[in-house]
Amino acid sequence: MNLSAKLTHPIFELVSKIAAEQKIETYVIGGFVRDLILNRASKDIDIMTVGSGVELAETVGKMIGNHTKVTIFKNFGTAMLHYQDFEIEFVGARKESYLENSRKPQVENGTLEDDQNRRDFTINAMAISLNKATFGELIDPFDGMEDLRDMMIRTPLDPDITFSDDPLRMFRAVRFAAQLYFDIEPETFEAIQRNLHRIEILSEERIAEELNKIILSPKPSYGLKLLDVSGLLELVLPEITNLKGIEKIGKDAHKDNFLHTLEVLDNIAQISDNLWLRWAALLHDIAKPQTKRYDPKIGWTFHGHEFIGAKMVPKIFARLRLPMNEKMRYVEKLVELHLRPIALVEDIVTDSAVRRLLFEAGDDIDDLMLLCKADITSKNREKVTRYKNNFALVEKKLVELEEKDRIRNFKLPITGEDIMEMFNLAPSRMVGDIKDAVKEAILEGTIPNEHEAAKQLAIETYRKLQ
Ligand code: ATP
Repeated sequence: MNLSAKLTHPIFELVSKIAAEQKIETYVIGGFVRDLILNRASKDIDIMTVGSGVELAETVGKMIGNHTKVTIFKNFGTAMLHYQDFEIEFVGARKESYLENSRKPQVENGTLEDDQNRRDFTINAMAISLNKATFGELIDPFDGMEDLRDMMIRTPLDPDITFSDDPLRMFRAVRFAAQLYFDIEPETFEAIQRNLHRIEILSEERIAEELNKIILSPKPSYGLKLLDVSGLLELVLPEITNLKGIEKIGKDAHKDNFLHTLEVLDNIAQISDNLWLRWAALLHDIAKPQTKRYDPKIGWTFHGHEFIGAKMVPKIFARLRLPMNEKMRYVEKLVELHLRPIALVEDIVTDSAVRRLLFEAGDDIDDLMLLCKADITSKNREKVTRYKNNFALVEKKLVELEEKDRIRNFKLPITGEDIMEMFNLAPSRMVGDIKDAVKEAILEGTIPNEHEAAKQLAIETYRKLQ
C-alpha cells in the first residue's frame, strides 16, 4: 500500500531529500501512521532513522531555517523541533532488552525491524518509508492494518513478554481501546490478567497519565470496565471497585454504585472535556460503601457520604501523584457539594438556600450544576422529569440572585479591619462574631450585600454583644 498522497506535510519531502543525499534510511512511524490511516487528526510526528536521530534533526532544522530551534534530549538520544504547527520528534532505530526490575530497557542501535519489534501494539508498529525509491510505502510486519480494520488492540510479539517487559503497556492497551473504541484481542487481554503483579515496577505518575487519558476518552465507562475486568482497577483505584454490588433487604435494594458512577461519568463526558470535572464525577459517591446503613422506615441511606468522600479526595490524589493544588481542591469541593443542588430541588427553593449554595460553590457553581444533573440516573421517568423541572427553577433563581446580590466570589462589604477601626477593638473573638453576623444576614437576605447596610448591622451587633 502506498500512502504518499496522505503525506501532505512538507517535513516528509524535506526528510526524504536529506536522507537521499546522506544515504540514510528514514521512516515515519508509530502513532502518526496509525492516526493517518484512521483519519484522526494528529499534531505529533515521529521520524525514525537507521542512524542518529539527533544529527538528522539538526540537518532538518538548518534546512528549515528561520532559526528553527532543535531540542536535544541527551538521555534518550532523541531530538525535537516544531515545524508548521507540528511537533516533530527524531529518533534513531533501536533494539531494546529488558531487565526484570525496571521498565527502562537497555538500548542499542538497531534496524527498522528491531525498532518495529519493540513497539507496543500492532497498530502502533506500522512505518511509512520516506526513502526515495519507496516513498509512501507502508511497512506493516504485524498486520496492523487488519487490526485497524477489526478494531483490535494486539501486541506484535508474545503478550506475556511484552507486558512483563513494560507493564505500562497494560494501561496503554486499555487507553487505546478506550480512545479508539477498539477491543483488546483475547490473548492480549488474558496476558494482562496474568501480568497484573508487574505493575509494581511502575511509577504512580505514569499510571495516572494513562488513567487521565482513559477518563478523557469519549465514553470513559468503556475503559473503566476494561480496567475492572482485567483486574487493573482494583490495584490502582480500589475505592472504585468497592462501589460494586447490590445489597437487598426484603424488597429494598440499593443501586449498584459502580455502574451508577460510570453512568454519571459518561453523562459528564458528553457535555464536558474538563478532566477535573470528570474526576469529580468518578469520585462523587466514593464514600458510599462506608456510610451505607439500612433503616427499615426509609430504606438504604448513605448519610454524610459527600463529606467523607470529599476527605478521601486528597488521599487518592496524593497516592496517584495527581496535582495537590487548586485542581484537587476543586474536585474535593464538587464531591462535598454534589448533593446540595438536588437537596434544594427537593425542598421549597428559598432565596437564602440558593444564596448559600452560590456562596460556597463560587465560580464552580456551573460545574456543580452540571455534575448534579449528570447524577440523575433514575430509571423512574416521572421522578427524572420532576427533578429536571425543579432544577430549571434552581438555575433561574441562581441567575436572578447572582444579578441582584453578587454572591458568587462573595467578599464581605466590610472587613475585620473596618470592624476593629469602627469600635476601636483589638483582634478578638468579637470581631469574628460581628463579621459572622453580617455574613449570615447577607446570606439570609435580611440585609443587602452593600457597605452601608453591613455597617449598620455591625453597629447593632456590637451593641448587642456588649
Ligand atoms: P498518543 O499521541 O495518542 O499518545 P501515540 O501512539 O503517539 O498516541 P505515544 O505515547 O506518543 O503514543 O508513543 C508513540 C509511539 O511510541 C507509539 O505509537 C508506540 O509505537 C511507541 N511506544 C510508546 N510507548 C511505548 C511503550 N511503552 N512500549 C512500546 N512502544 C511504545
